[in-house]
Amino acid sequence: MNISPVEKLFTAFNETALLLQEELSCTFLEAVAETGENLFQQAILQEEISELSVRRLKKIYEEINLDKFSNEEIRKAYQLVILKGMKESVQPNHQMTPDSVGMLVGYLVEKFIRAASYRILDPAVGTGNLLTTVLNQQSNKKIESVGIEIDDILIRLAYANSNLQEHPVELFNQDSLEPLFIDPVDTVISDLPVGYYPNDLRAQDYQLKAEEGHSYSHHLFIEQSFKHVKPGGYLFFIIPNGLFESPQAPQLREYLKENAVVQGIVQLPLTMFKNKNSAKSIFILQKKGENIKVPKQAMLVNMPSFSKAAEMDNVLRKIDKWFLENKM
Ligand code: SAM
Repeated sequence: MNISPVEKLFTAFNETALLLQEELSCTFLEAVAETGENLFQQAILQEEISELSVRRLKKIYEEINLDKFSNEEIRKAYQLVILKGMKESVQPNHQMTPDSVGMLVGYLVEKFIRAASYRILDPAVGTGNLLTTVLNQQSNKKIESVGIEIDDILIRLAYANSNLQEHPVELFNQDSLEPLFIDPVDTVISDLPVGYYPNDLRAQDYQLKAEEGHSYSHHLFIEQSFKHVKPGGYLFFIIPNGLFESPQAPQLREYLKENAVVQGIVQLPLTMFKNKNSAKSIFILQKKGENIKVPKQAMLVNMPSFSKAAEMDNVLRKIDKWFLENKM
């Protein structure tokens, strides 16, 4: 039987993770991080496992030659095995950014950013799926990436993920709303965590803090991103469609008026989401700076369902036209 490269890799990740899970008495997701690291280092890094398991692991790893797989094949296989692990322990705010969204962000990044080398930040990097989907679409560019994530298992997955795809990513395991010790970046991409930020004391450092009660973490993430991007830099956020309908929206609007040029809003197809309330958009902003060209009109696009090829073509043509009129 002919199996695809992604299936072959997925099977190897899955089988070795199951073995490690059993041996280490850990969760499947932790085992996925361990096996990713083993495969990258070409070694079995766990000391406390039986001879038999070491032999079985070695046999599976030996059959995989990473150089024979493309980055996208590696990313997709790793994504599938992570998804399997996430089903076991569902955490709504930890969800990986789906492929289709990542591809679209990657496409927009490629259209907006012409520089041959730049620095990119994802302050909610999670498993690194969004970041590496975007990186895999930028050909012939020299890109330095920074990823920040509060969850220690997710950041281990991001670490293995970027290593396996040989993307140099600097990762920090911390709360992104605490002070960040990073050099300014040229662009930010982020699938923002949506909800309340529990640390009221830290929120006091932000202009977008709530006047009463907890602040919205997605608002604070936007402000933090603006703080670390260079003037003129682009920011691509995945936001809930209701971003401007909350009681704290007027403050956000004011903040954006002061600091940003809105370049566009790309609404993701409603069919991707459970219901209208959970639907999201890609919000494209530019930090104000010298010689910034304000678009005649922001790019406002409603994406059709990705399976409708003809409608997709139409929309992509509309986006191209917008670039011709506003960015040339
Ligand atoms: N793009 C990611 C991926 O492809 O895996 C998924 C991003 S997920 C929607 C949002 C992420 O933000 C979660 O991984 C969550 O753990 C992280 N997060 C939430 N609050 C955070 C904080 N204060 N600092 C850093 N990361 C945080």
